[in-house]
Amino acid sequence: METDSSDRCFSGASPAADAPHGASAGVGVRVDAVTVSELSDAALHRRLAEIGRATSALTALHAETLRELTRRTDAATAEQTAKDTLRISGRAARSDVKLSVALGGLDATRSGLEDGTIPEGNAKLIARASTEGPIDEAWLAERAQREGYDEFRRTVARHQAEASSDDGASLLERQRQARSGKIFTSRHDGMVVLNAQFDPVTGARLATVIAAAERRLYSNEDPRSRPSHSQRTADAIAMLILEPDTARPAGTSLLVVADYDAVNHELTNARLSDGTPIPISELGPIAADAQVLPAIFNHATGDLRMGRSRRTATDLQRAALALRDQGCIGCDMSPDYCQAHHIVEWQHGGRTDYDNLVLVCNDCHHKIHDHGHTVEPKPCAGRYELCAPASPSATSNSADSRAPPA
Ligand SMILES: [Zn+2]
Repeated sequence: METDSSDRCFSGASPAADAPHGASAGVGVRVDAVTVSELSDAALHRRLAEIGRATSALTALHAETLRELTRRTDAATAEQTAKDTLRISGRAARSDVKLSVALGGLDATRSGLEDGTIPEGNAKLIARASTEGPIDEAWLAERAQREGYDEFRRTVARHQAEASSDDGASLLERQRQARSGKIFTSRHDGMVVLNAQFDPVTGARLATVIAAAERRLYSNEDPRSRPSHSQRTADAIAMLILEPDTARPAGTSLLVVADYDAVNHELTNARLSDGTPIPISELGPIAADAQVLPAIFNHATGDLRMGRSRRTATDLQRAALALRDQGCIGCDMSPDYCQAHHIVEWQHGGRTDYDNLVLVCNDCHHKIHDHGHTVEPKPCAGRYELCAPASPSATSNSADSRAPPA
Protein backbone atom coordinates (compact mmCIF):
# COMPACT_ATOMS: atom_id res chain seq x y z
CA MET A 1 0.00 0.00 0.00
CA GLU A 2 1.35 3.37 -1.01
CA THR A 3 -0.03 6.55 0.50
CA ASP A 4 0.88 10.11 -0.09
CA SER A 5 -0.93 13.24 0.96
CA SER A 6 -1.45 14.81 -2.44
CA ASP A 7 -2.57 11.73 -4.38
CA ARG A 8 -4.02 8.86 -2.41
CA CYS A 9 -3.69 5.65 -4.29
CA PHE A 10 -3.57 1.94 -3.90
CA SER A 11 -0.79 0.11 -5.64
CA GLY A 12 -1.01 -3.67 -5.66
CA ALA A 13 2.50 -4.41 -6.81
CA SER A 14 4.61 -1.36 -6.19
CA PRO A 15 8.22 -1.23 -7.35
CA ALA A 16 10.22 -2.90 -4.58
CA ALA A 17 13.63 -1.28 -4.38
CA ASP A 18 15.34 -4.14 -2.63
CA ALA A 19 13.43 -7.17 -3.89
CA PRO A 20 16.15 -9.81 -4.16
CA HIS A 21 14.29 -11.99 -6.68
CA GLY A 22 12.60 -9.08 -8.44
CA ALA A 23 9.40 -11.15 -8.51
CA SER A 24 6.97 -8.28 -8.87
CA ALA A 25 9.17 -5.25 -8.98
CA GLY A 26 8.06 -2.57 -11.37
CA VAL A 27 4.73 -4.12 -12.28
CA GLY A 28 2.72 -1.37 -10.61
CA VAL A 29 -0.97 -2.18 -10.86
CA ARG A 30 -2.32 1.06 -9.51
CA VAL A 31 -5.75 2.34 -8.51
CA ASP A 32 -6.04 6.03 -7.68
CA ALA A 33 -8.48 7.36 -5.12
CA VAL A 34 -11.13 9.40 -6.93
CA THR A 35 -14.63 10.70 -6.27
CA VAL A 36 -16.56 7.73 -7.64
CA SER A 37 -19.87 9.58 -7.74
CA GLU A 38 -18.42 11.73 -10.55
CA LEU A 39 -17.42 8.80 -12.78
CA SER A 40 -19.35 7.78 -15.88
CA ASP A 41 -20.69 4.20 -16.07
CA ALA A 42 -17.84 3.23 -18.38
CA ALA A 43 -15.22 4.75 -16.07
CA LEU A 44 -16.78 2.93 -13.12
CA HIS A 45 -16.54 -0.37 -15.02
CA ARG A 46 -12.90 0.34 -15.90
CA ARG A 47 -12.21 1.14 -12.26
CA LEU A 48 -13.72 -2.16 -11.13
CA ALA A 49 -11.47 -3.98 -13.60
CA GLU A 50 -8.43 -2.08 -12.26
CA ILE A 51 -9.35 -3.02 -8.69
CA GLY A 52 -9.63 -6.66 -9.77
CA ARG A 53 -6.12 -6.52 -11.25
CA ALA A 54 -4.77 -4.82 -8.15
CA THR A 55 -6.39 -7.49 -5.95
CA SER A 56 -4.60 -10.18 -7.98
CA ALA A 57 -1.29 -8.36 -7.68
CA LEU A 58 -1.78 -7.97 -3.93
CA THR A 59 -2.55 -11.69 -3.60
CA ALA A 60 0.77 -12.39 -5.35
CA LEU A 61 2.64 -10.14 -2.90
CA HIS A 62 0.81 -11.70 0.06
CA ALA A 63 1.72 -15.20 -1.11
CA GLU A 64 5.31 -14.26 -1.84
CA THR A 65 5.72 -12.87 1.69
CA LEU A 66 4.14 -15.90 3.37
CA ARG A 67 6.29 -18.22 1.24
CA GLU A 68 9.44 -16.44 2.38
CA LEU A 69 8.29 -16.62 6.02
CA THR A 70 7.64 -20.35 5.60
CA ARG A 71 11.08 -20.82 4.03
CA ARG A 72 12.80 -19.09 6.96
CA THR A 73 10.84 -20.91 9.66
CA ASP A 74 8.11 -23.47 8.88
CA ALA A 75 4.45 -23.51 7.80
CA ALA A 76 3.09 -23.55 11.38
CA THR A 77 5.13 -20.48 12.36
CA ALA A 78 4.15 -18.65 9.18
CA GLU A 79 0.48 -19.44 9.90
CA GLN A 80 0.74 -18.12 13.44
CA THR A 81 2.48 -14.95 12.24
CA ALA A 82 -0.19 -14.35 9.58
CA LYS A 83 -2.95 -14.98 12.12
CA ASP A 84 -1.49 -12.54 14.66
CA THR A 85 -0.32 -9.86 12.25
CA LEU A 86 -3.34 -9.78 9.94
CA ARG A 87 -5.79 -10.69 12.75
CA ILE A 88 -7.46 -13.39 10.63
CA SER A 89 -8.80 -16.80 11.68
CA GLY A 90 -6.44 -19.75 12.04
CA ARG A 91 -8.32 -21.44 9.23
CA ALA A 92 -7.80 -18.51 6.86
CA ALA A 93 -4.11 -18.32 7.81
CA ARG A 94 -3.65 -22.05 7.09
CA SER A 95 -5.32 -21.75 3.73
CA ASP A 96 -3.23 -18.65 2.81
CA VAL A 97 0.03 -20.42 3.69
CA LYS A 98 -1.02 -23.50 1.70
CA LEU A 99 -1.81 -21.28 -1.29
CA SER A 100 1.52 -19.46 -1.00
CA VAL A 101 3.46 -22.73 -0.96
CA ALA A 102 1.51 -24.15 -3.92
CA LEU A 103 2.05 -20.94 -5.94
CA GLY A 104 5.80 -21.29 -5.38
CA GLY A 105 5.84 -24.09 -7.95
CA LEU A 106 3.42 -22.44 -10.40
CA ASP A 107 5.40 -19.92 -12.44
CA ALA A 108 2.77 -19.01 -15.04
CA THR A 109 0.01 -18.60 -12.46
CA ARG A 110 2.21 -16.49 -10.23
CA SER A 111 3.18 -14.17 -13.03
CA GLY A 112 -0.47 -13.87 -14.15
CA LEU A 113 -1.40 -12.84 -10.61
CA GLU A 114 1.46 -10.37 -10.42
CA ASP A 115 0.47 -8.55 -13.59
CA GLY A 116 -3.22 -8.79 -12.74
CA THR A 117 -4.22 -10.90 -15.76
CA ILE A 118 -5.31 -13.93 -13.70
CA PRO A 119 -8.07 -13.26 -11.17
CA GLU A 120 -7.45 -14.40 -7.62
CA GLY A 121 -10.24 -17.01 -7.66
CA ASN A 122 -8.91 -18.68 -10.81
CA ALA A 123 -5.36 -18.74 -9.41
CA LYS A 124 -6.68 -20.50 -6.29
CA LEU A 125 -8.38 -23.13 -8.47
CA ILE A 126 -5.07 -23.87 -10.23
CA ALA A 127 -3.19 -23.98 -6.92
CA ARG A 128 -5.68 -26.42 -5.42
CA ALA A 129 -5.64 -28.64 -8.54
CA SER A 130 -1.83 -28.71 -8.43
CA THR A 131 -1.98 -30.30 -4.98
CA GLU A 132 -4.42 -32.98 -6.17
CA GLY A 133 -2.55 -34.48 -9.10
CA PRO A 134 -0.75 -33.76 -12.36
CA ILE A 135 -1.77 -30.63 -14.29
CA ASP A 136 -0.51 -28.71 -17.32
CA GLU A 137 -0.02 -25.43 -15.48
CA ALA A 138 0.90 -23.25 -18.46
CA TRP A 139 -2.23 -24.35 -20.34
CA LEU A 140 -4.50 -23.72 -17.34
CA ALA A 141 -2.87 -20.32 -16.65
CA GLU A 142 -3.60 -19.27 -20.23
CA ARG A 143 -7.27 -20.29 -19.92
CA ALA A 144 -7.48 -18.62 -16.49
CA GLN A 145 -6.89 -15.25 -18.15
CA ARG A 146 -9.91 -15.58 -20.42
CA GLU A 147 -12.54 -17.51 -18.47
CA GLY A 148 -14.87 -16.43 -15.66
CA TYR A 149 -14.75 -18.31 -12.38
CA ASP A 150 -17.60 -20.76 -13.01
CA GLU A 151 -16.44 -21.65 -16.50
CA PHE A 152 -12.84 -22.01 -15.35
CA ARG A 153 -13.86 -24.25 -12.43
CA ARG A 154 -15.34 -26.68 -14.98
CA THR A 155 -12.29 -26.34 -17.22
CA VAL A 156 -10.04 -27.31 -14.30
CA ALA A 157 -12.23 -30.29 -13.39
CA ARG A 158 -12.21 -31.55 -17.00
CA HIS A 159 -8.47 -31.00 -17.24
CA GLN A 160 -7.83 -32.92 -14.03
CA ALA A 161 -9.86 -35.87 -15.31
CA GLU A 162 -8.03 -35.81 -18.67
CA ALA A 163 -4.59 -35.41 -17.08
CA SER A 164 -5.06 -38.32 -14.72
CA SER A 165 -3.97 -41.69 -16.07
CA ASP A 166 -7.10 -43.47 -14.86
CA ASP A 167 -9.96 -41.36 -16.27
CA GLY A 168 -10.31 -39.39 -13.02
CA ALA A 169 -11.04 -42.44 -10.84
CA SER A 170 -8.22 -41.77 -8.38
CA LEU A 171 -9.10 -38.07 -8.22
CA LEU A 172 -12.70 -38.97 -7.34
CA GLU A 173 -11.43 -41.45 -4.75
CA ARG A 174 -9.26 -38.74 -3.16
CA GLN A 175 -12.22 -36.38 -3.15
CA ARG A 176 -14.31 -39.08 -1.46
CA GLN A 177 -11.63 -39.52 1.18
CA ALA A 178 -11.59 -35.76 1.76
CA ARG A 179 -15.32 -35.66 2.68
CA SER A 180 -15.97 -33.95 6.00
CA GLY A 181 -18.86 -32.74 8.11
CA LYS A 182 -19.37 -30.82 11.26
CA ILE A 183 -22.32 -29.64 13.37
CA PHE A 184 -21.69 -26.89 15.88
CA THR A 185 -23.36 -24.05 17.71
CA SER A 186 -21.92 -20.67 16.83
CA ARG A 187 -20.59 -18.92 19.93
CA HIS A 188 -21.17 -15.68 18.12
CA ASP A 189 -24.95 -15.81 17.72
CA GLY A 190 -26.16 -19.19 19.00
CA MET A 191 -27.14 -20.43 15.53
CA VAL A 192 -26.56 -24.12 14.78
CA VAL A 193 -24.31 -24.60 11.75
CA LEU A 194 -24.20 -27.71 9.52
CA ASN A 195 -21.04 -27.68 7.47
CA ALA A 196 -20.14 -30.52 5.13
CA GLN A 197 -18.24 -31.16 1.94
CA PHE A 198 -18.60 -34.05 -0.48
CA ASP A 199 -17.08 -35.48 -3.64
CA PRO A 200 -18.73 -34.08 -6.83
CA VAL A 201 -20.94 -37.15 -7.46
CA THR A 202 -22.36 -37.29 -3.93
CA GLY A 203 -22.60 -33.49 -3.87
CA ALA A 204 -24.55 -33.42 -7.14
CA ARG A 205 -26.97 -36.05 -5.83
CA LEU A 206 -27.58 -34.02 -2.68
CA ALA A 207 -27.95 -30.79 -4.64
CA THR A 208 -30.52 -32.41 -6.95
CA VAL A 209 -32.68 -33.58 -4.04
CA ILE A 210 -32.39 -30.26 -2.20
CA ALA A 211 -33.28 -28.30 -5.36
CA ALA A 212 -36.38 -30.48 -5.88
CA ALA A 213 -37.46 -29.89 -2.25
CA GLU A 214 -36.92 -26.14 -2.77
CA ARG A 215 -39.12 -26.16 -5.86
CA ARG A 216 -41.83 -27.88 -3.83
CA LEU A 217 -41.58 -25.31 -1.04
CA TYR A 218 -41.61 -22.51 -3.63
CA SER A 219 -44.85 -23.77 -5.17
CA ASN A 220 -46.54 -23.66 -1.74
CA GLU A 221 -45.35 -20.17 -0.85
CA ASP A 222 -47.45 -17.05 -0.74
CA PRO A 223 -45.96 -14.99 -3.63
CA ARG A 224 -46.33 -11.80 -1.58
CA SER A 225 -44.08 -12.99 1.23
CA ARG A 226 -41.44 -15.31 -0.13
CA PRO A 227 -38.38 -16.21 1.95
CA SER A 228 -34.93 -15.52 0.51
CA HIS A 229 -33.26 -18.26 -1.49
CA SER A 230 -30.89 -19.14 1.34
CA GLN A 231 -33.77 -19.32 3.82
CA ARG A 232 -35.59 -21.66 1.44
CA THR A 233 -32.48 -23.84 1.09
CA ALA A 234 -32.26 -24.11 4.90
CA ASP A 235 -35.97 -25.02 5.08
CA ALA A 236 -35.51 -27.66 2.37
CA ILE A 237 -32.60 -29.29 4.22
CA ALA A 238 -34.55 -29.30 7.50
CA MET A 239 -37.61 -30.78 5.78
CA LEU A 240 -35.56 -33.52 4.09
CA ILE A 241 -33.91 -34.55 7.35
CA LEU A 242 -36.84 -34.11 9.75
CA GLU A 243 -39.69 -35.32 7.52
CA PRO A 244 -37.97 -37.86 5.28
CA ASP A 245 -41.17 -39.75 4.45
CA THR A 246 -43.02 -36.77 3.08
CA ALA A 247 -40.23 -34.50 1.94
CA ARG A 248 -38.62 -36.23 -0.99
CA PRO A 249 -40.54 -35.00 -4.01
CA ALA A 250 -40.85 -36.69 -7.38
CA GLY A 251 -38.40 -35.73 -10.08
CA THR A 252 -35.30 -35.91 -7.91
CA SER A 253 -33.22 -38.03 -10.23
CA LEU A 254 -29.62 -37.06 -10.72
CA LEU A 255 -28.81 -36.68 -14.37
CA VAL A 256 -25.67 -38.46 -15.56
CA VAL A 257 -24.66 -38.11 -19.17
CA ALA A 258 -22.36 -39.91 -21.58
CA ASP A 259 -21.78 -40.07 -25.32
CA TYR A 260 -22.13 -43.28 -27.26
CA ASP A 261 -19.27 -43.80 -29.67
CA ALA A 262 -20.97 -45.81 -32.42
CA VAL A 263 -17.67 -46.59 -34.12
CA ASN A 264 -16.01 -48.24 -31.15
CA HIS A 265 -19.29 -49.28 -29.47
CA GLU A 266 -18.39 -47.72 -26.15
CA LEU A 267 -19.49 -44.98 -23.79
CA THR A 268 -17.21 -41.97 -23.52
CA ASN A 269 -17.10 -38.55 -21.91
CA ALA A 270 -19.27 -39.29 -18.84
CA ARG A 271 -20.20 -36.19 -16.86
CA LEU A 272 -22.72 -34.63 -14.51
CA SER A 273 -25.20 -32.22 -16.06
CA ASP A 274 -23.07 -29.20 -15.13
CA GLY A 275 -20.20 -30.66 -17.13
CA THR A 276 -18.19 -32.04 -14.17
CA PRO A 277 -16.47 -35.12 -15.63
CA ILE A 278 -16.84 -38.47 -13.89
CA PRO A 279 -14.92 -41.68 -14.57
CA ILE A 280 -16.66 -44.07 -16.97
CA SER A 281 -16.12 -46.76 -14.33
CA GLU A 282 -18.55 -44.82 -12.09
CA LEU A 283 -21.30 -44.88 -14.66
CA GLY A 284 -22.38 -48.50 -14.10
CA PRO A 285 -22.64 -48.40 -10.30
CA ILE A 286 -24.43 -45.05 -10.10
CA ALA A 287 -26.72 -45.66 -13.07
CA ALA A 288 -27.96 -48.83 -11.35
CA ASP A 289 -29.42 -46.58 -8.65
CA ALA A 290 -33.11 -45.89 -9.30
CA GLN A 291 -32.53 -42.23 -8.37
CA VAL A 292 -30.10 -41.67 -11.22
CA LEU A 293 -31.31 -40.85 -14.70
CA PRO A 294 -28.71 -41.80 -17.29
CA ALA A 295 -28.86 -39.99 -20.62
CA ILE A 296 -26.81 -41.42 -23.44
CA PHE A 297 -26.31 -39.23 -26.48
CA ASN A 298 -25.90 -40.91 -29.78
CA HIS A 299 -25.38 -38.20 -32.35
CA ALA A 300 -27.23 -40.24 -34.97
CA THR A 301 -30.59 -40.07 -33.20
CA GLY A 302 -33.17 -37.37 -33.74
CA ASP A 303 -34.46 -37.43 -30.15
CA LEU A 304 -33.61 -33.79 -29.62
CA ARG A 305 -36.13 -32.49 -32.17
CA MET A 306 -39.77 -32.68 -31.12
CA GLY A 307 -40.91 -30.00 -33.58
CA ARG A 308 -44.51 -28.94 -32.96
CA SER A 309 -45.47 -32.31 -31.48
CA ARG A 310 -45.08 -31.03 -27.91
CA ARG A 311 -44.58 -27.68 -26.25
CA THR A 312 -42.48 -28.60 -23.22
CA ALA A 313 -38.95 -29.95 -23.45
CA THR A 314 -38.39 -33.68 -22.89
CA ASP A 315 -36.08 -34.96 -20.13
CA LEU A 316 -33.49 -35.82 -22.77
CA GLN A 317 -33.71 -32.31 -24.25
CA ARG A 318 -33.32 -30.80 -20.80
CA ALA A 319 -30.25 -32.97 -20.27
CA ALA A 320 -28.78 -31.84 -23.58
CA LEU A 321 -29.54 -28.20 -22.77
CA ALA A 322 -27.94 -28.55 -19.33
CA LEU A 323 -24.83 -29.84 -21.05
CA ARG A 324 -24.71 -27.14 -23.70
CA ASP A 325 -25.75 -24.11 -21.61
CA GLN A 326 -24.41 -25.41 -18.27
CA GLY A 327 -27.07 -23.36 -16.48
CA CYS A 328 -29.02 -20.16 -17.06
CA ILE A 329 -27.63 -18.35 -20.12
CA GLY A 330 -28.23 -15.03 -18.34
CA CYS A 331 -26.74 -15.61 -14.89
CA ASP A 332 -25.17 -19.08 -14.77
CA MET A 333 -27.78 -20.39 -12.31
CA SER A 334 -27.60 -24.18 -11.94
CA PRO A 335 -29.71 -26.16 -14.48
CA ASP A 336 -31.79 -27.40 -11.52
CA TYR A 337 -33.36 -23.94 -11.31
CA CYS A 338 -33.85 -23.39 -15.01
CA GLN A 339 -36.61 -23.87 -17.54
CA ALA A 340 -36.35 -24.36 -21.30
CA HIS A 341 -37.27 -21.20 -23.22
CA HIS A 342 -38.19 -21.23 -26.93
CA ILE A 343 -35.94 -18.76 -28.81
CA VAL A 344 -38.57 -18.42 -31.54
CA GLU A 345 -41.55 -18.48 -29.24
CA TRP A 346 -44.08 -21.30 -29.35
CA GLN A 347 -46.99 -18.96 -30.08
CA HIS A 348 -45.05 -17.62 -33.07
CA GLY A 349 -44.59 -21.09 -34.51
CA GLY A 350 -41.35 -21.91 -32.66
CA ARG A 351 -40.40 -25.58 -32.51
CA THR A 352 -39.51 -27.65 -29.47
CA ASP A 353 -36.13 -28.47 -30.95
CA TYR A 354 -32.81 -28.53 -29.17
CA ASP A 355 -31.50 -25.66 -31.28
CA ASN A 356 -34.56 -23.49 -30.60
CA LEU A 357 -34.32 -23.89 -26.81
CA VAL A 358 -32.15 -22.29 -24.13
CA LEU A 359 -32.02 -22.70 -20.35
CA VAL A 360 -33.06 -19.66 -18.31
CA CYS A 361 -33.85 -19.18 -14.61
CA ASN A 362 -37.14 -17.63 -13.50
CA ASP A 363 -35.66 -14.16 -13.29
CA CYS A 364 -33.96 -14.19 -16.65
CA HIS A 365 -37.08 -15.67 -18.26
CA HIS A 366 -38.94 -12.68 -16.85
CA LYS A 367 -36.30 -10.34 -18.34
CA ILE A 368 -36.96 -11.81 -21.80
CA HIS A 369 -40.73 -11.61 -21.64
CA ASP A 370 -41.17 -8.33 -19.76
CA HIS A 371 -37.98 -6.31 -20.09
CA GLY A 372 -36.89 -6.69 -23.68
CA HIS A 373 -33.80 -8.88 -23.14
CA THR A 374 -32.93 -11.05 -26.12
CA VAL A 375 -31.26 -14.42 -26.69
CA GLU A 376 -28.25 -13.99 -28.96
CA PRO A 377 -25.82 -16.57 -30.37
CA LYS A 378 -22.36 -16.48 -28.79
CA PRO A 379 -19.23 -16.42 -30.95
CA CYS A 380 -18.57 -20.04 -29.94
CA ALA A 381 -20.80 -22.10 -32.18
CA GLY A 382 -24.07 -23.41 -30.86
CA ARG A 383 -24.16 -21.49 -27.57
CA TYR A 384 -26.24 -18.51 -26.52
CA GLU A 385 -26.19 -15.56 -24.17
CA LEU A 386 -28.77 -13.17 -22.79
CA CYS A 387 -28.37 -9.56 -23.93
CA ALA A 388 -29.85 -6.54 -22.22
CA PRO A 389 -31.78 -4.02 -24.34
CA ALA A 390 -29.85 -0.89 -25.33
CA SER A 391 -31.39 1.32 -22.64
CA PRO A 392 -30.07 0.33 -19.20
CA SER A 393 -33.27 1.57 -17.48
CA ALA A 394 -35.21 -1.27 -19.07
CA THR A 395 -33.37 -3.97 -17.14
CA SER A 396 -35.11 -5.70 -14.30
CA ASN A 397 -33.60 -5.89 -10.86
CA SER A 398 -35.19 -8.60 -8.79
CA ALA A 399 -34.54 -9.28 -5.14
CA ASP A 400 -34.32 -13.05 -5.38
CA SER A 401 -32.68 -14.13 -8.58
CA ARG A 402 -32.38 -17.74 -7.39
CA ALA A 403 -36.07 -18.43 -7.17
CA PRO A 404 -36.70 -21.87 -8.64
CA PRO A 405 -39.25 -22.16 -11.40
CA ALA A 406 -42.76 -22.73 -10.12
ZN1 LIG B 1 -30.76 -16.39 -14.87
